[in-house]
Amino acid sequence: MIVQANKYSRSIKEKARELGFFSCGIAPAEYLEEEEPRLQKWLDEGRHGTMQYMENHYHKRLDPSKLVEGAKSVIVLLTNYYPNEQFPDDAAYKISKYAYGKDYHFVLKDRMRRLMEFIRDEIGDSRMRAFVDSAPILERAYAVKAGLGWIGKNTLMITRRHGSFFFISEIITELELDYDQPFGGDYCGDCRRCIDVCPTGAITGRRELDASKCISYLTIELREKIPDQFKGQYDQWIFGCDICQDVCPWNRFSFPHEEKEFLPHPDLLKMSKRDWEELDVEDYRKLFKKSAVKRAKFEGLKGNIAFLRD
Ligand code: SF4
Ligand code: SF4
Repeated sequence: MIVQANKYSRSIKEKARELGFFSCGIAPAEYLEEEEPRLQKWLDEGRHGTMQYMENHYHKRLDPSKLVEGAKSVIVLLTNYYPNEQFPDDAAYKISKYAYGKDYHFVLKDRMRRLMEFIRDEIGDSRMRAFVDSAPILERAYAVKAGLGWIGKNTLMITRRHGSFFFISEIITELELDYDQPFGGDYCGDCRRCIDVCPTGAITGRRELDASKCISYLTIELREKIPDQFKGQYDQWIFGCDICQDVCPWNRFSFPHEEKEFLPHPDLLKMSKRDWEELDVEDYRKLFKKSAVKRAKFEGLKGNIAFLRD
């Protein structure tokens, strides 16, 4: 039985790499007991801002068997999104690297569907579901349990070999597999660059983020006027923010992705300040066709630009 689990786990990981995931680890689908008080405190303190959905399905966030009946394993998959192309340092306005190309939800869902087909063909039919940000589970906690890395002081998952510019997605299955050793240790050490550089003071402590102060939240999730207290702190970000990743020393190991779907529209990185300020719906649709930037909607993006101008 153990021999089979070993064999299956190996072939799932090989197939994951073949499909373009750069790393794959497998963790038991346990209840996240140690994360429960942290999540509760974060919610109680209102650190999730207006993201009401974070309060929903509280137990589902912590218990994979509430998402897939009889869940035994969480297969955690990492996908590199570090772009070769960059906004120039003096760019008029900036958007987060993960949103340069096609919305990762579409790209990863398709890849994971193919991995699930492989599992069904090779191992047999079983209950399983794929999640890309779409299900209320604490994916970073399972990534650590699957041995892939640690959670940095900026609250993002970091790997020693590739830094932190990657998407995390997962397949929850009732299959019993061979599990990786949880990642031991924390390689942030005495570093606190992300804390010191965050312009809004959103990183409030070790692995604690006040999302209601984070530029990513303010430019994407907040569906109302950005509070004036953040004036002058945005450093030209109009969709997301990469500052606490850009300064992280582990990201010197980031390397450009090879996913053509993540390539930006050729005009995007050439946009002048005036181009952004005069952006109309047609240009917006052309530049951000199937892009994650659509989450902010046209009016939201224009509002973020106006916030920086006024
Ligand atoms: S994304 Fe930007 S605003 Fe949010 S914690 Fe990181 S540096 Fe701070
Ligand atoms: S910048 Fe330093 S403290 Fe922050 S996540 Fe990276 S290594 Fe950890």
